[in-house]
Amino acid sequence: MRALIDASVATIVAHADELTALDQAIGDGDHGFNMKRGFEAVAADAPALAAKPLPEALAAIGMLLVMKVGGASGPLYGTLFMAMGKAIGPSPTLADAAQAFGAAVAAVQARGKAEIGQKTMLDVLMPVRDALAGGGPDIARRLPEVAAAAAEATIPIKATRGRASFLGERSIGHLDPGARSSSLLIAAICGVLEG
Ligand code: ADP
Ligand code: MG
Repeated sequence: MRALIDASVATIVAHADELTALDQAIGDGDHGFNMKRGFEAVAADAPALAAKPLPEALAAIGMLLVMKVGGASGPLYGTLFMAMGKAIGPSPTLADAAQAFGAAVAAVQARGKAEIGQKTMLDVLMPVRDALAGGGPDIARRLPEVAAAAAEATIPIKATRGRASFLGERSIGHLDPGARSSSLLIAAICGVLEG
């Protein structure tokens, strides 16, 4: 858990400026700052979080993200982690983790009332959920590729949810910031699990 937290925080901090630039193009330019603030709060609590059983750790991370990230993405990422904590046991198999991630993604969908293809973080989370459910060898190596390709695939989409939808056609041609942050987190988590 400590390694997972450290890797997640590190990737968000390292890419905060990039996430901000993406959000400047089709939003209000706060996504990098929001995510950095939230994950720095997670980093500050890392020893206590890492000492908790997995379900409690995920629930506590979700609460921190709701409180500290803000914007649209804070409640959504918070919901993802809290719902995953609710759905998972203390020592899950890969199949258990896939099932819990499915429940977590469903909770994000319910909270944000979004579907795939609307240029949001769900455009990454849903294909990753499907690939994870498919399982198979090398899953921790393949998921970051699935996530990165899914994030890139948001570029030609016209946003119909979130702040970017206010731009209509002008949202076309830009990578969705939340899709990018989801892809970064998945790569960081899989990198630790693969090792
Ligand atoms: P805000 O849009 O309030 O400024 P952020 O900039 O932190 O919040 O986050 C923007 C990201 O949140 C978007 O790029 C998108 O991926 C995601 N997002 C926004 N609305 C939704 C929604 N209803 N469902 C899923 N994801 C969403
Ligand atoms: Mg924003």
